[in-house]
Amino acid sequence: MLSDFIAVFCREKHQAESREAFPIKDERLRQAIGDKEMMLCPDCTRLFSHGTAKLLLCPYDPKPMCKKCETHCYAPGYREKIREVMKFSGMYLMKHGRMDLMLHYFF
Ligand SMILES: [Zn+2]
Repeated sequence: MLSDFIAVFCREKHQAESREAFPIKDERLRQAIGDKEMMLCPDCTRLFSHGTAKLLLCPYDPKPMCKKCETHCYAPGYREKIREVMKFSGMYLMKHGRMDLMLHYFF
């Protein structure tokens, strides 16, 4: 799930930033993330709320894989940022022997 990737990314890359728990206001969002607390810096909070807003607003039900979707709803710049997060956290998880998580996400 995106939340884990952003959480890893922020923890490793933005250690100097002051981080706060991401406010989960939406019930569907809570179901998607679970009850764990996400500590994010202001930048990552913005990035993540953008991502979750899009997820929750997706017009398709069930939601298809975004990369297969015809409606590219992510704002310009956001995709690049997410790609960076996925790449970094993907590498991080692999290095730390969390292939199980990777497999879980991508297959
Ligand atoms: Zn951050």
